[in-house]
Amino acid sequence: MASAREDAARKIETALSEVRAVYAELARRPIERACALRTECCHFAVTGRTPYLTRGEALLAAKALRATGRKQLPEAIDGACPLLHRATLRCLIYADRPFGCRTHFCDAAGGPWPRHAVLDLIRRLEQVDSQLGGEGPRALPGAVAEALD
Ligand code: SF4
Repeated sequence: MASAREDAARKIETALSEVRAVYAELARRPIERACALRTECCHFAVTGRTPYLTRGEALLAAKALRATGRKQLPEAIDGACPLLHRATLRCLIYADRPFGCRTHFCDAAGGPWPRHAVLDLIRRLEQVDSQLGGEGPRALPGAVAEALD
């Protein structure tokens, strides 16, 4: 019989698989955007916007950050995202970046995706959040820091 710990681990892996499936489905949607990796959207103090993450997104981001060898959230510099590498100015977890980072493009890249075009995917992420006992989307720094614990 599986232990409670194994059950919990399986539940998290199932949740992470669903989050990855949502990201993959988003990538298949035909809305053209031309990101030139200016990383403007990663400077929250500049944009005035911070991505909000559901629990599944935060757990996936934390797992990706741990895979880089880090155990803690890096210190944020100058109002930028703590996951933006301070030397390379590249996202530390790009392949597993949250949904908001995949949909909120700057004006130069074509602007944010319309919410109605991705509402079904947002609902799937909210469902995962609920299954994991989350309490709805939280701002990226706090959400990832908690998921790392
Ligand atoms: S998670 Fe990555 S893509 Fe998203 S704001 Fe932070 S550095 Fe930018």
